[in-house]
Amino acid sequence: MLRGCTRYYVARVDITHDSNIQVDRHGVEVLDAEAVEQRALQTIRAFDSVLVAAPRSIPVEEFVRQLADDRVLEYEPSADLGNVLGRCWFSTPRIEINRALEGPWRRFVLAHELGHFTLHRHLKVLRRDYVEDYTRTIREGVLPTPPAHEWMEWQANRFAAALLVPFPTMVIVAQEALEETRLMAGPRRRWQIADYIAATFDVGKTVARRRLDELDVLAKKWTQQRPTPVDH
Ligand SMILES: [Zn+2]
Repeated sequence: MLRGCTRYYVARVDITHDSNIQVDRHGVEVLDAEAVEQRALQTIRAFDSVLVAAPRSIPVEEFVRQLADDRVLEYEPSADLGNVLGRCWFSTPRIEINRALEGPWRRFVLAHELGHFTLHRHLKVLRRDYVEDYTRTIREGVLPTPPAHEWMEWQANRFAAALLVPFPTMVIVAQEALEETRLMAGPRRRWQIADYIAATFDVGKTVARRRLDELDVLAKKWTQQRPTPVDH
């Protein structure tokens, strides 16, 4: 069902060699939220553009297995990692996921590691050849402004959220949910809409609520619906 990953791989190589990309002193690309959103959409479209046309759960596990089948990376889906949730190796690309993880949390951790692979695998400045993630580095509800030392983690978390809940299809779900919940008011309505998003995209409620905050879809909609004062 999935198309090959050739475009994905080539796109990444092109970006690595693009001298217009600004990098920080560690060689990490300086990407704002919008740029990370675009990178996540690029990744999804490289596998199957249908996935950003109609709302559905993004098959991140299939993405990574496809990359492994194409020998772009190695994938260990059931690693014995103790309290480490996931790991991404760079020079010999490899993603490892803790065997104890399951459900939406597992999907988020895997998307986070795919974020490191997509955004950071060219890095050679690390003391180790891999990044290792714990519950403190993987946050479903990411901070909008990261401290400098958490910059890479912010990027990977933002990538994961954007990959699992793509903006174009999230807008569709949010609009449907607005209609479904029109008799509700206040926070209850917002949580209900987040629940629709969580169920459609198979993500945790924290991710769904954060996506609503990030993309401001509802705020815009509600502003449009609010009665405007009459001019005199
Ligand atoms: Zn990480």
